Amino acid sequence: MTYSVSPIGFVRSCFKEKFAIPRQPQLAPAARGVLELVAPFDQGDAVQGLEHVSHVWLLFVFHQALEDKPRLKVRPPRLGGNKSMGVFATRATHRPNGIGQSVVKLDMVEPNRLHISGIDLLDGTPILDIKPYVPYADMIHAASNSMASAAPVLIPVEWAETALHEAHGHALRLQEPLVALVEQCLAQDPRPAYQTPTPQREYGAQFWDLDVRWHYPEPGVIRVIEVVLAEH
Ligand code: SAM
Repeated sequence: MTYSVSPIGFVRSCFKEKFAIPRQPQLAPAARGVLELVAPFDQGDAVQGLEHVSHVWLLFVFHQALEDKPRLKVRPPRLGGNKSMGVFATRATHRPNGIGQSVVKLDMVEPNRLHISGIDLLDGTPILDIKPYVPYADMIHAASNSMASAAPVLIPVEWAETALHEAHGHALRLQEPLVALVEQCLAQDPRPAYQTPTPQREYGAQFWDLDVRWHYPEPGVIRVIEVVLAEH
């Protein structure tokens, strides 16, 4: 039996590529975006009442990780990428039906769009449904998960003086908390666990319309070296 679903909207996100997106929502509060609703949900009626809600669940499609053949086992990056686990024991992007779910902060409601933050969603992510977070039911104090018992350990993020100056300039232009966004995302060390970077090796990712480049001057420390407009 098959069911068909269609998006009720699409996310315009600060994240333009998968690399350096936090692995779950709420890990980077400065990660902002706009959920643009499509017809017939862009009229205002569909979001009436959401102004009473601080957070929403988003159900979405991992549109850049869809695969024809379902995987039963995956290798979650959280476990170092070398240990396989049943797909249903993980929040991996490669999964049956390609459906993801994230709780995000609802900052502002407009008739045809929702301003959201704390997101872990790629730009263009198709949204299938929105549901209000219901604290008394969704917050489970006794819950446990011994594979993912705490948020990732953060590493220090330093700035080259010129990069910080560039970031402040672009933050003003974009009207976005860019310095916090870069610090919050990089502190989670997006590098694959199996790579041991030399100080010479540079990494980069696009946030908004900017290429952000960094390196590891010593193990466990990130230094941002450049924040420049991305080439289109
Ligand atoms: N919170 C969601 C969940 O549990 O279903 C997503 C968790 S998944 C581990 C988060 C990662 O998905 C991000 O770090 C990013 O690399 C990737 N991602 C986000 N949006 C995506 C999309 N539209 N298509 C493919 N991958 C995406």
